[in-house]
Amino acid sequence: MQDKFLKEVLGIVAGKQAEEIVNLLDGTKYVNEFIIAKKLDVTINQTRNILYKISDYGFVSSIRKKDKKKGWYTYFWKIEILKSLNFLKNLLEKNLNQLELQIKSKETKRFYICERCNIEFSEENALSHDFSCDECGSLFTIKDNTKVLREHRRAYELWKKQLNFVEQEIAKEEKKIEKKKLKEAEKEKPKKKVKKKVVKKKPVKKKTIKGKIVKKKVSKKVVKKKSVMKKTSKKKMKKKK
Ligand SMILES: [Zn+2]
Repeated sequence: MQDKFLKEVLGIVAGKQAEEIVNLLDGTKYVNEFIIAKKLDVTINQTRNILYKISDYGFVSSIRKKDKKKGWYTYFWKIEILKSLNFLKNLLEKNLNQLELQIKSKETKRFYICERCNIEFSEENALSHDFSCDECGSLFTIKDNTKVLREHRRAYELWKKQLNFVEQEIAKEEKKIEKKKLKEAEKEKPKKKVKKKVVKKKPVKKKTIKGKIVKKKVSKKVVKKKSVMKKTSKKKMKKKK
């Protein structure tokens, strides 16, 4: 189900070839772009062009590694599942809103039609045309919208179901991300504690020792400088003499 949605999103954004990329990308691991190109059976530049297009929307992300011998960069790509699904969710919500308005208008308002030209008019428009067609002169008839309404309502239900599925997939993905964060946090916790203990013990001793040494050194330097000053002043004195 998720793959179907992701294909839809990438297809909207970057065309049919982008749909195939969904099968080759992962949501967690970065995939070498040369592997993607090989499996798509297109050149590396064509592959990059598709991926750049998708990355403009933030639906894929990349890291790059420099080839030390050849000096060029290779990109590794990952699909941003949550962002892609949220895009589809927003799109469906927009479509549903528009369709809902159309349904309401067809339910509550009267429409007229010129059956010869197959042009539809709202009641206000029909009135301003005196209920007759400018093109052919025929009189308008009231349009029967029951069939259109039925189709609209069917589409509305379908989109709503799809939106429901997309929201479920988003919830699943968010749970996955949360789990991952928790795991990573658990991994980091014990390490930090050990580090903190070690860090706390050592600097206390070092500081006191260093402090003393530094003070001694400074005082020595000051003494040296003073003696140098004295020497130079003595030399100057000698020169002056
Ligand atoms: Zn007409």
